Amino acid sequence: MMNMNFNFNNPTNLIFGSGKLNELGKQKMPGKKALLLISSGNSVKKYGTLERVEEQLRQAEATYVVCANIHENPSKEVVMEAAAIAKENQCDFIVALGGGAVLDSAVAVAAMATNPGDLWDYVNGGTGKAQPLVNPALPIVTIATSSGTGSEINCWGVISNHETNEKIGFGDPSIVPVLAIVDPELMKTVPAKYTAYQGFDALFHNTEVMISNGVNILSETIALSAIESIYKYLPRAVKDGNDLEAREHVAYGSTIAGITMQLTNTTAQHSMEHAMSAYHHDLPHGAGLIMISKAFAEFFIEKHACDGQFIKMARVMGIPDADKPEDFITALVSLQKECGVDGLKMSDYGFKPEESMTLAVNARETMGGLFLSNPCEMSNEECAMEPEWERR
Ligand SMILES: [Zn+2]
Repeated sequence: MMNMNFNFNNPTNLIFGSGKLNELGKQKMPGKKALLLISSGNSVKKYGTLERVEEQLRQAEATYVVCANIHENPSKEVVMEAAAIAKENQCDFIVALGGGAVLDSAVAVAAMATNPGDLWDYVNGGTGKAQPLVNPALPIVTIATSSGTGSEINCWGVISNHETNEKIGFGDPSIVPVLAIVDPELMKTVPAKYTAYQGFDALFHNTEVMISNGVNILSETIALSAIESIYKYLPRAVKDGNDLEAREHVAYGSTIAGITMQLTNTTAQHSMEHAMSAYHHDLPHGAGLIMISKAFAEFFIEKHACDGQFIKMARVMGIPDADKPEDFITALVSLQKECGVDGLKMSDYGFKPEESMTLAVNARETMGGLFLSNPCEMSNEECAMEPEWERR
């Protein structure tokens, strides 16, 4: 029976569409001086996006300090460093310009720019102390330059603690960005490989919501629309980065996943991937998810945990007359092949089978909450079979 209960509070002013970066300057900024947070890489400078954003901020009569220290799988240290720069310069809001790593970091930086102590005092999970924030975080404006995490419109960011091998989602409903600009034109320069990884991350946010036991009529409607868009257009975006129509549809699927994740949690597939990249820092989040995705779905299909949900997904993934949950696997594998990511192996990133129980325990200790969203129980032993699963 369809779950007809949900709480929906998404206070972000979302401006979506090609060319919409040019509207930033007309918006009312939530402060006078921004910490303009960007990645330590070169791309927003190289392609002129940083310059455009600076010009738009001037039009909006805001000043800014650029902080270019965010790297992939961002760590607690860079968050604390960026927060210190915001404090020193008395920034009163954050502009996060970048992909998932920058957008994720923004949430933590916004909190630590106004709160005492260390980020891990406020992290809920693992060795985090789960204290409530003392002061309101700085308001956040996001400008997404890639499609994947959906964090441009939600209050969650995933941060790594390298000392403790933890990668945990940090967030608080009070830190939802006030303004988000999603301009697919900015995404044309994302390399094919990352377009695929990030696109699959977005896909899994939606497929996990679909099989979550918290799915409801609204989160399901949004998730199916996103899955349909990503399935149809991700291969085109991977093959030709300049295919703007494809970029637009993938960006749509990614951004609205940010909304559906506010309504319904994802599942332990995300806990498991976080454990994987907590131990192997080079592993891109989307690549980790792709490696385990087939086995993860098969686990629930074998147990008939939510056959109907898999069939609904298969029907918007190129199999309109799907009538069995296995059709979802067929569609998933075909999308992986079309995007050239079907050959990813955990061993390529140095995973060893003997690590599997450590990863399973870490997944539950750091992000155990998502195991509760699984459509049926999954033990540590079952979870630890992961490295074998990829070779099935
Ligand atoms: Zn994700």
